[in-house]
Amino acid sequence: MPIQILPPQLANQIAAGEVVERPASVVKELVENALDAGAHQIDIEIEKGGARLIRIRDDGCGIAQHELTLALSRHATSKISSLDDLEQIVSLGFRGEALASISSVARLSLTSRPQTQDTAWQASAEGREMQVQLKPAAHPVGSTVEVLDLFFNTPARRKFLRTEKTEFFHIDELIKRLALSRFDVGWTLSHNGQVLRRLKPATDQDRQLQRVATLCGRRFGDSACWIENQHQGLRLWGWLLPPAAIERQSNCQYSYVNGRMMRDKLLNHAIRQAYGDLLTQEQQPAFVLFLELPASEVDVNVHPAKHEVRFHQARLVHDFVSSALENALRQLAPESLTQSAA
Ligand code: ADP
Ligand code: MG
Repeated sequence: MPIQILPPQLANQIAAGEVVERPASVVKELVENALDAGAHQIDIEIEKGGARLIRIRDDGCGIAQHELTLALSRHATSKISSLDDLEQIVSLGFRGEALASISSVARLSLTSRPQTQDTAWQASAEGREMQVQLKPAAHPVGSTVEVLDLFFNTPARRKFLRTEKTEFFHIDELIKRLALSRFDVGWTLSHNGQVLRRLKPATDQDRQLQRVATLCGRRFGDSACWIENQHQGLRLWGWLLPPAAIERQSNCQYSYVNGRMMRDKLLNHAIRQAYGDLLTQEQQPAFVLFLELPASEVDVNVHPAKHEVRFHQARLVHDFVSSALENALRQLAPESLTQSAA
């Protein structure tokens, strides 16, 4: 076969393989866009586990009519413009691939209106060349992205979709994680026409804890202890359960780095180390923790789906987290700690 440049749709479908694994990954990308757009309210509608419909509406800054076509193109982003920017990312997105990828494996439409426009416009891209169609639409300031029939044109992918219930479970779990990352944002999540979660913006610590309790369970909410610690430009805050309150099967483990949800090995290790002997084999640490550090201290461009980060000073971060938590736990259960140390 001669060497040839792949048509845009195929190139995008290949790229989609990295980030669009299932409906929940689409939801993640779209919600992160809404958060990057400065939304205060995000409404998520799902039908049939997301395989039929994912609709996400925000009241963020919107996209100007003349930029809609670009927004759907690959490698098009408003979030970085140089390598320097890449070294200190403050937005959740920066790869400029999500909308192009998703629209190559589903029927996507993007309706948007910025403050500066009287009317909204709707864009969608179709076919091998991913030609963008534009038409006027009605929409308040902000954006709605609608994704229909995910993987309709990539049957191999579609085959890997699990039951509606399982796919929705993943979406719900994701929304929990995201809603914990932004207490200042209001959220609704509905499935097949039924609103299942409605979270008002939580502005003070009491309301934040209420949200934590709603999402992590009453038990976590009732026993969680607030922690806050700062050291050399690092800040750790959030809630954790004292060992005595941890049940066998509890699995409330939420950690964030600069507002980005993470499943980070280094953090998990630091947290586990802080609990040390206070937990039995069956018990797992339970926490909602936020680590904040200068953006230049973390590399988020490690994984296409951005589940991992790399810390420039990994040792420092690890030891800060584990000693901050150890101190907090010692104050919560001084006796058990001295016992385990003896
Ligand atoms: P990235 O988020 O990496 O920049 P995306 O493909 O997700 O790439 O989005 C492309 C661009 O479209 C974004 O940089 C942003 O300018 C714009 N955009 C996407 N979604 C929204 C939204 N909900 N509100 C405002 N702008 C958006
Ligand atoms: Mg994005």
